[in-house]
Amino acid sequence: MPELPEVQTTLNGIKKFILNKRIKKCDVYVKKLRWELQKDLSTRINNAKITDIRRKAKYIILCGENFYLLFHLGMTGTLRIAKKNNELKKHDHFEIEINKKCLLRFNDPRKFGMIYCSHSWKSLSERFFLNIGPEPLSNNFSSEYLFSISRNKNVAIKTLLMNAKNVAGIGNIYASEALFVAKIRPQKKSKKLSKNNCKNLVRAIKSVLKKAIEKGGSSINDYINADGRSGYFQYDFKVYGRTSLPCHICQSNILQIKINQRSSFYCRNCQK
Ligand SMILES: [Zn+2]
Repeated sequence: MPELPEVQTTLNGIKKFILNKRIKKCDVYVKKLRWELQKDLSTRINNAKITDIRRKAKYIILCGENFYLLFHLGMTGTLRIAKKNNELKKHDHFEIEINKKCLLRFNDPRKFGMIYCSHSWKSLSERFFLNIGPEPLSNNFSSEYLFSISRNKNVAIKTLLMNAKNVAGIGNIYASEALFVAKIRPQKKSKKLSKNNCKNLVRAIKSVLKKAIEKGGSSINDYINADGRSGYFQYDFKVYGRTSLPCHICQSNILQIKINQRSSFYCRNCQK
């Protein structure tokens, strides 16, 4: 599932191709993704100019003259730039023609993604963003904030981090990685976090996400040239998916457990 760095990298990659360009044509090849698509979707955005492109949590929003077009990549969605003479691929569900050469295409094999158009930012926010916590890379996500929301919470810290109400867009992969960097066990009860734990954890989250975005930034050009293979970045995970492999720091085996039904990875020796 794409997490925040993958979404930000997608945005960074498509931005230069579509910003300040006019939508020449829009084609919809599917009735329903996670939800049914609006029937008048293409007429709502036809011939309008894209004046901004934003990310909010894991949503990408194309903003234009009198429209906001929101995408969510769901489990398997990708947005990519294609050349106009590239044939449609299997699971290409939606495309916008930008100019004679270039198209923006949405592909989603499992169809958990979302495309929604609104005429106002306010109604879009009320519909999608009301229950989303601060952006992890913003100053609003601070150690004081994490300390305050973790008081009296019995849930595992990893579960707290993966709840978008607390902080936006941190999924299983980067929660696991950040907890390793901060030397905190993923199953530790949130209320047991010290102020120092919170400081280390907030710092670790920001650094892990920034590094992943930088890595993604260098692979996005290949991804566009290669016409549509996104995949995950070659971020070298320290614990995620490394069950029974030696910890990079102490060489003990990385352990795998389930927390809130999600696979979680940690080093018993390095994380307390
Ligand atoms: Zn270790």
